[in-house]
Amino acid sequence: MATGTAPLHSSILIVGSGVFGLSTAYALAQRPAFRNTKITLIERLEFPASDASSIDSSRIIRPDYADGAYAALMAEGMPLWRGEFGAEGRYTEAGLCLVTDETADDNDEDAHYYLVRALENVTKRLGLRVGKREAGGQVELMETPEAVQRVMASMGGDCGRRGYVNWTSGWADAEAGVRHMRKLVEATGRVQFRTAEVRRLRFGEDKVEAVELVNGEVLTADLIALATGAWTPKLIDLRGIASATGQILAYLDLTQPEQDRLGSNPTLLCESNGMFIIQPRNRVLKVARHGYGYANPTCIPHPERPESGETITVSLPRTKQDDPYLDIAPEGDKACREYLAKTIPSLADRPWTYTRICWYTDTPKGDWLISYHPKYSNLFVATGGSGHAYKFLPVVGERIVDVIQGVDRDELGKELRAKWAWPSAKWKEDHIWTDDWRGGKKGMVLDEELARS
Ligand SMILES: Cc1cc2nc3c(=O)[nH]c(=O)nc-3n(C[C@H](O)[C@H](O)[C@H](O)COP(=O)(O)OP(=O)(O)OC[C@H]3O[C@@H](n4cnc5c(N)ncnc54)[C@H](O)[C@@H]3O)c2cc1C
Repeated sequence: MATGTAPLHSSILIVGSGVFGLSTAYALAQRPAFRNTKITLIERLEFPASDASSIDSSRIIRPDYADGAYAALMAEGMPLWRGEFGAEGRYTEAGLCLVTDETADDNDEDAHYYLVRALENVTKRLGLRVGKREAGGQVELMETPEAVQRVMASMGGDCGRRGYVNWTSGWADAEAGVRHMRKLVEATGRVQFRTAEVRRLRFGEDKVEAVELVNGEVLTADLIALATGAWTPKLIDLRGIASATGQILAYLDLTQPEQDRLGSNPTLLCESNGMFIIQPRNRVLKVARHGYGYANPTCIPHPERPESGETITVSLPRTKQDDPYLDIAPEGDKACREYLAKTIPSLADRPWTYTRICWYTDTPKGDWLISYHPKYSNLFVATGGSGHAYKFLPVVGERIVDVIQGVDRDELGKELRAKWAWPSAKWKEDHIWTDDWRGGKKGMVLDEELARS
């Protein structure tokens, strides 16, 4: 693979304008090596794509990771969120209260694995100060249910048994962040935007010959970068590598006094069941679950050899674009309702105003897939967000373009490139899920769960 500053490609076609696609476009547009490269970004829906994983009212922004490399990368991202990138309400630093429902003396180490490792990383690796907030502490330990209750007092319910709050974490207005990134890309004047859906890639023996759009048009480029999120398994064979998992979101309206009461809370995130509540904004509260999710098995022609007649079954997103009446399944409704009743009892009976199934692109280890394709030399893939990539919006593009160029700018870059590499072994089971404090059951299938209505 070529390295360094030589122009690598005369044209690059990025497909998908979520976190990975836009941040890649921005980094490419600014890097001298691509000064003469024609860059095109193509997106299937009018921007911002309403069902994209990157588009929502809020996303958690935190360096609190059990994995040191992501914690370190996020330590680079946090100052950007606190600066111009997160200005005008795009970022709010209200803290992150990471809790477990298990007690400290539980023998089950897995029960609070994530919490313990994340705490270690933010304090030892990133050097955040431990102590009470009033005394200048950035990370406050909560060793009893009463300590959790004190931090989350305005919720009025049972918010967890122990954990810690990182006052230097926060949340982003997700759609506003992506819109801002798009403006930054536009301002470079280097990227041509198109709204059109890619129907399929036309594969040759060892490269992609062309990109075929749904409207019949055929495009070619030196490099094709797929940043198509949970839809990627429709375009290339990712069986055993990455898969779409449907995650539940439920929204409810608040009164102004309720907004005032709850509006400056830290995000509450429970490792024991994956449930979380981000502080409300504009009188809307969101309850969600970081879960194993629903698979949506779909039989499609083999994306890399459709003419062979071979079909494969992969999990693909189903969203309100496909079915405007699609709501969360009863088990998900129940999980959100029970968590709301437990943590904010005064809202226990408040009906949802909106629900949504939003799609992660899960990989077995939760590491993203940022790599050249092992078989097709002009195909690059930037996906596999595994439910945690949004927060990296301001920084991930530079790292992605490092991988495109084959450059390791530092030890962290080397470590990340190894994590994001095309896996040598495939996951054996039908459905992929990531095991990082996920809630819900493993192996749920969307249609089966919806049918329980
Ligand atoms: C419910 C939920 C909660 C989350 N919470 C957090 C959080 O708190 N913090 C955090 O950091 N991360 C969070 N994430 C994860 C984060 O949002 C994702 O990892 C990230 O947004 C993934 O970005 P992406 O670019 O891969 O995908 P997307 O944003 O989905 O972008 C892919 C784009 O490709 C387009 N596309 C697909 N197929 C085609 C085609 N054939 N032709 C043209 N265009 C196409 C789509 O329309 C879409 O716009 C959450 C995700 C979900 C679903």
